Amino acid sequence: MAGFDPDNWKELRRLGHTMLDEMFDNIQNVASGPVWQPMPESVRQGFKEELLPKQGVALSQLYQQFTQTVLPYGVGNRHPRFMGWVHGGGTVQGMLAEMLAAGLNANLGGRNHAPVEVERMVIRWTATLLGFPETATGVLVTGSSMANFIAIITASRAAPDGVQMRANGLNGRKLVGYAAQTAHGCIARAFDMAGLGTDALRRVPINAAFQMDMTALRAMIMQDRAAGYEPFLVVGTAGTVDTGSIDPLSDLAIFARQEGLWFHVDGAFGALARLSPHYQSALDGMEQADSIALDFHKWAQTPYDAGCVLVREEGKQAAAFAQTLAYLSREDRGLAAGAPWFCDLGPDLSRGFRALKVWFTLAGFGTEGLGQVVTNSCNVARYLADQVDTLPYLERLAPVALNIVCFRVVVEDENLDTLNTELVKDLQESGIAAPSTTTLHGKRAIRAAIVNHRTTEADIDILLDALAAATETRTGKTLNRE
Ligand SMILES: *Cc1c(COP(=O)(O)O)cnc(C)c1O
Repeated sequence: MAGFDPDNWKELRRLGHTMLDEMFDNIQNVASGPVWQPMPESVRQGFKEELLPKQGVALSQLYQQFTQTVLPYGVGNRHPRFMGWVHGGGTVQGMLAEMLAAGLNANLGGRNHAPVEVERMVIRWTATLLGFPETATGVLVTGSSMANFIAIITASRAAPDGVQMRANGLNGRKLVGYAAQTAHGCIARAFDMAGLGTDALRRVPINAAFQMDMTALRAMIMQDRAAGYEPFLVVGTAGTVDTGSIDPLSDLAIFARQEGLWFHVDGAFGALARLSPHYQSALDGMEQADSIALDFHKWAQTPYDAGCVLVREEGKQAAAFAQTLAYLSREDRGLAAGAPWFCDLGPDLSRGFRALKVWFTLAGFGTEGLGQVVTNSCNVARYLADQVDTLPYLERLAPVALNIVCFRVVVEDENLDTLNTELVKDLQESGIAAPSTTTLHGKRAIRAAIVNHRTTEADIDILLDALAAATETRTGKTLNRE
């Protein structure tokens, strides 16, 4: 039993200290290495050929394999010049909390223990942070994909006679919901998984600022009602994934109330802009939502994974998810006390102690500290946007509402879609910076999302220098870099 020798405490302790020290060094020096590097084929092949061990493998050997074959080939989101997609940078506090949580090995599906109270506290804090009443319910989940899914199920069960759908299914009902064309793909996926079908998610056109067009929304709902459909939900996004735009949340809140629709906000990353004094007004109206989905693993920098769904009105979430099962019966005292349990608020029964790392990061930063992270990211994005607007060979492709800048290199006589797609790959493979791409109004864009708390204006300068150099190499033309 080389791998799990119980008498091996001394050796385990020594190794544990080494791992901790080396991971501290690795994080502390993360900016001096490449953002990302492709995995050599031999390393990839090693994973494909590694056999399931019959006998336990010593931890020292596993750790050696980790340092050689895993550690150097991560996605790079801890690095200040990772700007792809929307990825948080992580924190040491969060890492240590993960270790403590794993040490405790708690299951937070329910029952009567302190970790459950920690998650309740974190949910209450999140309600406060978002301007929801303290009686709001919620649960920590993998990410906003799951959080949006839970909210959409809850919304459908909150429709008139909706709870009956738990037993009967849709039973001929034609429920439809609305989200802007810019909504994240997980909203349509949630409609799919909920059995509503992706066609039941109506996609509302957007205006020039990439926000939901309210006039179009009104017209679509009228049309659907006239055709015998049953509108039940409107989803606004606080921080769309392409450009960071924010739907007109105040208008949506008023409209949803007038029309008797559930108002859900996908605030995956943007919801936390509420903590920045400079940006909170952009989210006005979000606090009136019936439910909000958000991630702690993006702007809050909690290590993956940590998402959260919050439902304003107590009882709605349990009405959608709670079950009565004999072996899960609740008692007034003992280990089976303390209902309602988190398993009553979503599809998961066994659940890990995500709440500890969320607690340590929220408390570690404080709301002011997190607000500064948000403000700083947005300021860095604004700096990038200013540079883009100044440099003659760059063109901005969308307004900058928060922390995302979409732009492209413009060089005469080049296919710009191909050029910009290739330039992003060049940058990623250089290890210097890692933006990603998107397509806006048919144009291929370089997309830089500033999420990492370590990113500064100096990183933008390095990104732009590397981009100019890559453009010159690829096109053979000299750019006017004034
Ligand atoms: C990231 C994101 C999601 C999906 O969240 P996950 O945590 O990746 O599941 C949904 N909506 C928006 C706006 C996002 O940015």
